Amino acid sequence: MQRDMHFYATYVLARMSGMGVKIARRVADASEYVDEAVRRDPAIHPRGVRVLPEVTAHHLVSVENLDPDDQRKVWVVFHFFPGGAGRTTLERLVCRPMARPLGKLVEHYIQAMSGQEFFPELVGIAAHVIMDSFSHAGFSGVASPLNRVKQGSLEYQPICVRPGDKPVAERGLRTSVERFFGRFGQGITDVMDELKEEIAAVVGEAASNALGHAGAATLPDRGYVRWRCEYEVGERVLGRENPRVFWRACQELYGFFTKALGAAPWMGEGAQPLELDERAAVIKRLIRTCGEEQERCRAWREAIKAGILHPLAGDERAPVHSFRKLEKPLDSLPDMPDPREIRRRFIYRFYQAASYHRHYALRRLLPSWGIVVA
Ligand SMILES: [Zn+2]
Repeated sequence: MQRDMHFYATYVLARMSGMGVKIARRVADASEYVDEAVRRDPAIHPRGVRVLPEVTAHHLVSVENLDPDDQRKVWVVFHFFPGGAGRTTLERLVCRPMARPLGKLVEHYIQAMSGQEFFPELVGIAAHVIMDSFSHAGFSGVASPLNRVKQGSLEYQPICVRPGDKPVAERGLRTSVERFFGRFGQGITDVMDELKEEIAAVVGEAASNALGHAGAATLPDRGYVRWRCEYEVGERVLGRENPRVFWRACQELYGFFTKALGAAPWMGEGAQPLELDERAAVIKRLIRTCGEEQERCRAWREAIKAGILHPLAGDERAPVHSFRKLEKPLDSLPDMPDPREIRRRFIYRFYQAASYHRHYALRRLLPSWGIVVA
């Protein structure tokens, strides 16, 4: 998935589950930052303090994508969580929506980790993994023949919210929410043209390494399309109505947040929950908003401003995610009067959570499901 879901939907669902503004922000920042943590250089202070980054993503064109060790440490555990089904390791590595191994992981985090200072960041990372398990289902995070998509078999169609579509009225929402949908969406043909170009470029290049869902380009990550393709191996067809799948992902995430909050009530910061069904129609429409990532993010921001979280009390300005801001403490570490203070910053807590997640998933959980890949 992309930033509209990993940051905005995640923030909205965290708030609706009853998390306070600050905690929901940490959760959403961590969820989105999983896709952005590519920094490798340590931050160093002359008095011996040293912070080693945890890499949880690579740039799309990075050569590290081809490194089998990196595929395991990055793609498998953070973006294509193994479904655990099948006989061979390659089969077991195929990602499935909220499969049992992931269910076990989440259970463990809720039961054993809720007392940790970095629990909100860990919840955010798990949120990323849960969401991706829906959009990346059917593919695995290693270079595998099972990921190969038959050339020319990829088909897709937009099922968008179009400008001028009759808005869905929802009780308790201000009319501005209902109206703002009309302002969104470039012409659908423009969007599909851009998508077509991108798919041509990505699919051509990806055919060679068969990593992840490259064979299906970014189609699995966009809420407003329906798509299908055929695998090269076996007579297997993969097809998805993304709006429906994304909505199921939101339901799963809301449930997870509710449980996490139950284990760590301090994350509520006195806020109130809001039933997911109360906002089902508006969230489903946001998922189907047509456009590039930025435009879809803008739709979520507008929805927050227009009162999607109403009547929750709190600061309902729409948050903006900036990885540069989050990484700033690393740059200023050499000049910090007390560099140990970095442990209270988001970035350090994210690293704590990410390294815990990597260790727990790769060394403890997955081996017990017969998946030994690191
Ligand atoms: Zn991801």
